[in-house]
Amino acid sequence: MKDRAAQLIASREKFVQQMPDPGAILPGSLLSRMVRCNKPGCRFCEKGKGKGHGPIWILSVSLGDRQVRQVPIPGEMKKEVEESLRAFAQMQKVLKQIARVNLDLLKERKRQRQ
Ligand SMILES: [Zn+2]
Repeated sequence: MKDRAAQLIASREKFVQQMPDPGAILPGSLLSRMVRCNKPGCRFCEKGKGKGHGPIWILSVSLGDRQVRQVPIPGEMKKEVEESLRAFAQMQKVLKQIARVNLDLLKERKRQRQ
């Protein structure tokens, strides 16, 4: 059925349009952490009471082979980094969807040859 192939191509086009700008992507995840300055008398770091300073934001990126790179992120860059992480996740999601459609399309084209 030709319609099936046309449907698949149309849905693939929809996914392609959902693709984020690849120039903006960042891998990893953003963690927050409280830090201790260890200065005597600091009320934020008082033993058992203080919560420490922060939170500070850290981009944690897995490089494979159990290697993880941790990059501290200044507060004013947090939003931008979050958007880039979302773009990366979106890109991976859309890539999988396009790959799935192309697989179905391949099967459909093979079927049409018979
Ligand atoms: Zn402190």
